[in-house]
Amino acid sequence: MRAATAAVVRRPGAFELEPIEIDAPREHEVLVRIVGCGLCHTDLSARDQDLPFKLPAILGHEGSGIVEQVGAGVTRLRPGDAVVLSYAYCGDCEYCQDDRMAYCTRNARLNFGGVRVDGSALARDRQGQPLSARFIGQSAFATHALVLESNAVRVPTDVPLELMGPLGCSMQTGAGAVINALKPSRGESIAIFGAGSVGLSAIMAARIAGCATIIAIDKNAGRLGIAAELGATLTINTQVEDALAAIRAATKGRGVHYSVECTGVPAVLRQAVDSLRACGVCASLGVAGHQAEVQLHMNGFLFGKTLRGVTEGDSVPQRFIPQLIDWWRDGTFPFDRLVSYFSLAQLNEAAAACASGLAIKAIVQPPHTG
Ligand SMILES: [Zn+2]
Ligand SMILES: [Zn+2]
Repeated sequence: MRAATAAVVRRPGAFELEPIEIDAPREHEVLVRIVGCGLCHTDLSARDQDLPFKLPAILGHEGSGIVEQVGAGVTRLRPGDAVVLSYAYCGDCEYCQDDRMAYCTRNARLNFGGVRVDGSALARDRQGQPLSARFIGQSAFATHALVLESNAVRVPTDVPLELMGPLGCSMQTGAGAVINALKPSRGESIAIFGAGSVGLSAIMAARIAGCATIIAIDKNAGRLGIAAELGATLTINTQVEDALAAIRAATKGRGVHYSVECTGVPAVLRQAVDSLRACGVCASLGVAGHQAEVQLHMNGFLFGKTLRGVTEGDSVPQRFIPQLIDWWRDGTFPFDRLVSYFSLAQLNEAAAACASGLAIKAIVQPPHTG
């Protein structure tokens, strides 16, 4: 057992800092001292129990840190290694074997089970009561997280490690949807619906891919300003403009080759499909309410259009996260511009700042990092 501190959700809606104990690493597990953890919308869905994850629980799934201890059978990592954490996958199923681990058949159990697959608890509170953990493979709103070796990605030691956690979820989700899933060719057009951290990552990736027309759609003027700085060639504010009309006007009436839906709003997904030209492809990334359904115009869809869901940007984290770091180094993926830092104790304030649009990507830092 290791004494640690975590932000625990005991009742929907609030995080409370408390002392906890984390189990010692077992086979293929590593204990990581967290230096930073990004706040992702999925954390808030679980905090509010819109997304079921048994309470009391430790959330947080964009962690980065230093390996402190390794369990039996760990071969790739050693204490002292710098790591960025990502989602968990089994490594054995047909999807994992095919490098499509975001669709692992054991995804739900490994990322939302709250306990190890054998049912044992990963963390306990002061009274010895189990706390649900390993949320999306992590539970990094804490000083320490106990994760599987396979979803801890070793990264260079000469980068600001506290910045890198969001690469493990929202940044790879947005960038991967473009680079790994849609794979646009140079000169093609793309429309990105929603300019939060996922959508802005998709915009940076679209620029890297060489898209000539990159359209950002949002209702927040400040975010659209950042979208333009990061590579959007056209921004559409839905408070004052009709998105579909503006997209058609910008594409000689034909629509875009690709669209990316990052809002989780069914009506916006419908627009993202309607914005496509013939044979265009829409990637749907937004997480909606459990019961959400979408309506499509069937005959319009017949024009060779494709709609596909994408989780975690189809990423193989062990390859894609180092790639994103290389792009960050060469200045083409400046995701640091989206980040605001908070202390772990300020997690509720960080969540409020994200909800109000004041912060795009909040990273919380546990106390031992100052
Ligand atoms: Zn698998
Ligand atoms: Zn996430």
